[in-house]
Parts: sequence; C-alpha cells; structure tokens
Amino acid sequence: MAHAILSASGAYRWLACTPSARLEQQFKDEQSPYAAEGTRAHAAAEHILVREIWPEKAFPQDAPTFDDKEMENAVRRYVDICLEKVNEARARTQDADIQVEARVDFSRWVPEGFGTGDMVIVADGVLEIVDLKYGKGVPVSAENNPQMRLYALGAYEANNLFYDIEQVRMTIVQPRLDSISSDLISIEDLLAWGDSIKDTALAAFDGKGKCNPGKHCGFCKARHNCRALADKCMAEYRAHCDKEPKLLLDTEVAEILDLVDMITKWAKDIKDYAFNMAVNEGKIWPGYKLVEGRSSRKIVDPESAAKALLDADYQDIYKPQELKGITDLTKLVGKKELNTLIGKFIEKPEGKPTLVPLSDKREPLEMKQVNVDDFDDTLVD
Ligand code: SF4
Repeated sequence: MAHAILSASGAYRWLACTPSARLEQQFKDEQSPYAAEGTRAHAAAEHILVREIWPEKAFPQDAPTFDDKEMENAVRRYVDICLEKVNEARARTQDADIQVEARVDFSRWVPEGFGTGDMVIVADGVLEIVDLKYGKGVPVSAENNPQMRLYALGAYEANNLFYDIEQVRMTIVQPRLDSISSDLISIEDLLAWGDSIKDTALAAFDGKGKCNPGKHCGFCKARHNCRALADKCMAEYRAHCDKEPKLLLDTEVAEILDLVDMITKWAKDIKDYAFNMAVNEGKIWPGYKLVEGRSSRKIVDPESAAKALLDADYQDIYKPQELKGITDLTKLVGKKELNTLIGKFIEKPEGKPTLVPLSDKREPLEMKQVNVDDFDDTLVD
C-alpha cells in the first residue's frame, strides 16, 4: 500500500518536528503485533459495515474473521456507532453518501497528502468522520486532533459541491478502552486551521526546520538515531555534572523527574535497535559482540517425562491448575460476558501511591504514614 510522506496519522509528529517525516524515510516500517491486530480488526469492521449498509454488494468471504471474542465485541461496538450515525444522516439527507475505508485527499493543504478515513458520512449540515482505534494503550482525544482534521479537510474538499456542509463531527472510537471522543468544528474554523498549517506542512515535506524532541517522538522511526532526542535526554545529565553542591537539590531532582519517562524509553529504544541490527543485519557495534545468552533447561516431551516419573512411583509431579488472568479471560469471553459471569468475583484493590506531575487529573492522596515499600516506583506523566 502506498504511504503519503506526510501522513494524517503522523501529523501530530511532523507538525511538531518538521524534519521528522523525511528522516523517517531512511528507516523500514516497524511491524508490531499490535499493528497487525489493528489491521485485522479494521478488516472485520469493514466487512460488517459493507454487509449491513449494502446487503446486495458481493463480498469475497461469507463472514468476518475475529481473533477472539474481545475483538468481535470491540468491532461490533464500533459498527453499532457507525450504523447509528448512518441512520441519523439518512434521516437528514435521503441521498447521504456513506463511505467505508474512504480515500481522502488533503493535498490542498499538505503536499501529496492523502489517507484513508475508516468511515465518512456525507450529508447536509454535518459531515461525519469516524475512526476506529483498536489499541488499548492510552485514550486518544478527537479534540484538536490533526489526523481527524486532515481527514475532515479531504472529505469536505471532495464533497462540498454536492452537499450543504456546515460542520464536521470527528469521532474516535476506542472500544477496548470504553472511550468515544468527539469534536465538532465549523467549516470556517476547519478551513482556517488547514490554512494555518500550510507553511509547516511545506517545511515538513521539504525536510526543513529544527528537530524538536517531545512526546511525539514515541513512534518516530528515527528515534534511535535522532541526535536532537539524544541531546535532550543527555542534556539534563550533563547540566548537573561538575557542579556544587555535591548532592542534587530538590528542584534538580524534580527537573530530572520531568524527563525520566522520555530518557528511559529512549535508552530502551537504543538498546532494542542496536540488538536488532546486530542480530538481523550483522551490524558490528564498536566495543560490542553477540554472545549466546543464558538459558534454562526445559522438558521437551512432558507426556513421556510424566509417564517415566509416574512409572517410578512419583505421584506429586503436577502443578495445581491455575485460572487464566483477567486479560486472557477477556480475550476468550469478551468484556461484557466476563463481567456478567464472574464480575462479582473480581475486585480492584487500591493502587499503590504513585508520584505524578501536578497536571495529572487524579486527586492527591491524603498522606498518612506510608511505608517506602508501598510505593510503586513507576513514574507516570
Ligand atoms: S525522534 Fe523526535 S526529534 Fe527526532 S526526528 Fe523524530 S520526532 Fe523529531
């Protein structure tokens, strides 16, 4: 599948760091099991929507395929939301144009910009854009979301001659997080936003500007080699070298806390990258070599081993049977059904105290006597 250099999904990154899109071209696509899972969920959603909206349309397979019950439930939740919007639009405009996996071209604002909107519903009044995000990492807000706005611009550009569109509603559905986020924008504001990013998009297309490290670096394909990100991560360390007093001040510890997540992730990314290059591409890193790692012995034929032990009259050789964890059971049964069946046996214990920035939405803890061992040493930002 062809990829735009300035993709809508990467817009939050190339808008913040204009050289990133061209730097990313030097690296291969990263295949993650989560991305592949998302692709299968999208294919299943497309299948059901096409069947529901155009029953007469031929489809190569009879039924959509799901990895598990969790995927089926999540996809059906997204489909229900889409179908509700389709019905609303048809009630408003009889010949509403429904598009599943719609190619949208936003090149009027972003050089060579195009992408695929999961669901686009064109009707008088409100144009609807719906996006399925199958991941369950963090909830993604539709508010001021550049990916959704670029889809909206493309869909508006292609359809505004045929429909009287006044507003666009952009909705992101993350069924596995129970998250549905919407944003409504007038066409005037949308077009003004499109014009406001034109210069930045042009700089990004030309690979111009200064690298600007930040939270948007997370999925950048250049993150392992990016000098600006390395400089930012190392700068805090260097800032405290050869200074007095010999112990860090509280304010200095707090400054480092601000960067801990970024530095930890960056260090792990570098390690993974160096390892993968050594194993897959034969890369020799100065001062390093590949060796065989430590390994544990394992029983290769458990049935024969068990028989030999039982024949020798050892009876107590099996582990007790153990119930799968909630994540695996959710995959097997689906969230709703699992809650019906065993919800009363599940409890959520109090979380351990966690140190977070003041901007975090959670209420501060009333601190009584807290043992240091009770602390979760994960820092969340
Ligand atoms: S890692 Fe971050 S700073 Fe570096 S190119 Fe990518 S987005 Fe820009």
